Amino acid sequence: MPLPDYHIHTARCGHATGSMKEYVEHALARGLKEIGFADHIPMYWLDENRRDPELAMPDAELPRYVEEVEKLRSSYRGINIRLGIEADYIPGCEEQLQRIIQRYPFDYVLGSIHYVNGWGFDNPAYIHRYKETDLDQLYRDYFLLLQQAAQSRLFDIMAHPDLVKKFGFRPRGDLRRLYLETAKAVARAGVCLEVNTAGLRTPAGEIYPAPDFLHICKKFAVPVTTGSDAHKPDQVGFGFDRATEMLTGAGYDKVTHIKARQTTQIFF
Ligand SMILES: [Zn+2]
Ligand SMILES: [Zn+2]
Repeated sequence: MPLPDYHIHTARCGHATGSMKEYVEHALARGLKEIGFADHIPMYWLDENRRDPELAMPDAELPRYVEEVEKLRSSYRGINIRLGIEADYIPGCEEQLQRIIQRYPFDYVLGSIHYVNGWGFDNPAYIHRYKETDLDQLYRDYFLLLQQAAQSRLFDIMAHPDLVKKFGFRPRGDLRRLYLETAKAVARAGVCLEVNTAGLRTPAGEIYPAPDFLHICKKFAVPVTTGSDAHKPDQVGFGFDRATEMLTGAGYDKVTHIKARQTTQIFF
């Protein structure tokens, strides 16, 4: 079975292009058998007037997004189309998020850390802040949040698990201890980790997670799955040959498939 692509965005988020149909067509052309849309959830932790329409869809679009995925699902036969959502983990706002998730029949929820202490560290608009940032502290804060998110039980899959490396700013210290603690926390929480190829398109130039991190995850039997983080139709399935290589290198021969929040391990 080809790797699934569970991380596909739509133009609704304000920074992706193409129609949803085009994303499906590209998946078919690449020979994928299972995909899932996982667009950015409305910025539920902010007042409506403080939300950025170029980061996530507005509240009113969420039911339309769900409808459109369901419609596509019934019009395509040769491919499974899942309904996912990418949701930011914001400590203290767990109940708000839970309320939104319960309202829709999501197949899965991707959990993401895009903010550390209110700073959108992966947003190029705020890249200047790296200059005044203690990178060792940033990485510690990031991985702690990721562990907390995994343990919140809100999510099925932890997305791009070392996104903090996106712009290539690396800490001086060794990351193995943080990887180890995080792998243990994720294993204990029983959630899955995403092997996300978008890192190949960034200055980091490397899949999320780093190979060392993935090796440690395998030791703790952390289940994994795959996503391209496509923001353009031709990015569906992007870099999946590299993902296969990396998974195999770490000792994985199965990935998680998910439907109605129930997981199965399938050989790739
Ligand atoms: Zn995005
Ligand atoms: Zn993300």
